[in-house]
Amino acid sequence: MNESETGCLQLTESGKLRHLLTLRGLRRDFISDLLDRSEHYQHKPGTPPSRDKALDGRTVVNLFFEPSTRTRASFELAAKRMSADVLNLDVNMSSRKKGESILDTIYTLQAMQADVFVVRDASAGIPEFIARNVQPYVSVLNAGEADVSHPTQGLLDLLTIRQHKQNLDGLTVTVIGDLKHSRVARSLGEGLSIMGPNELRLVAPPELAPDMELYPQGVLVDDIDEAINGADVIMTLRIQRERIKGKSSLMTNHEYLQKYGLTEERLSRARPDAIVMHPGPMNRDVEIAGPVADGPQSVITQQVNNGLAIRMAVLAAVFESRQGQ
Ligand code: ASP
Repeated sequence: MNESETGCLQLTESGKLRHLLTLRGLRRDFISDLLDRSEHYQHKPGTPPSRDKALDGRTVVNLFFEPSTRTRASFELAAKRMSADVLNLDVNMSSRKKGESILDTIYTLQAMQADVFVVRDASAGIPEFIARNVQPYVSVLNAGEADVSHPTQGLLDLLTIRQHKQNLDGLTVTVIGDLKHSRVARSLGEGLSIMGPNELRLVAPPELAPDMELYPQGVLVDDIDEAINGADVIMTLRIQRERIKGKSSLMTNHEYLQKYGLTEERLSRARPDAIVMHPGPMNRDVEIAGPVADGPQSVITQQVNNGLAIRMAVLAAVFESRQGQ
């Protein structure tokens, strides 16, 4: 799917959000607007979350064909806080296990008045395929597509960075880890290049290095210390063992921490006000040392909190695009 095709599929004729499949092709002001809108759904820890009736009478179906904690829970809470009915399909108990095609599953749920499908799948292209086949009044939100894209994660990461750095340009952002398999890094890279210019430094073990064609504005840096030097933002990623086929010759956890882990000593090379991010799930003392994950520069729980606000903003935006339908 090229950028203009995605744009046509994602947006209505009047430029509103119909589906969210990728950040590619979205305009800078469109993304800024979604980030601004999500601030409206923020609430202070310990205070009751904001609720509204924006999705009253609507049905949101979570279809997760891959494990998830944060994304699935936050989509569910986001929809419930906006008064939708939420169905979390237990995919292990669903008829897909009996050979039903994904489209037949979708048509079945559509016949029960599903308005939104939140989809996570291990195969590339599934969210777009569903989006092309649903009724005009149904929306599809990509909640993680293979190693390709994770747009709501990209948005929550941009929001978290903006909250600390005010602007989303002129930043030095270092991403360390399994970049070969990371949809999170790809969506962040896409988002940063739309909002930028930003300097994106990528560090990965040679066997987990990304295809640099996917990061036209990124640079692959061999020396991790050099990549962290003066950074404003550091994101670490876990090794996605579930996507590595066959027997892997990867180093042990201890060796990985020594070579690629974000330790306190390494972090001290970044700017003193640098923030530390991780999309989760986190493997402590592998890609990130425990004291860094829990330290004052860590914004990992804030990312989770922002995930809920972003998903509320995205749900509000797709329902707004169909007002009057
Ligand atoms: N939770 C993120 C994802 O779904 C990152 C990860 O699994 O490592 O891609």
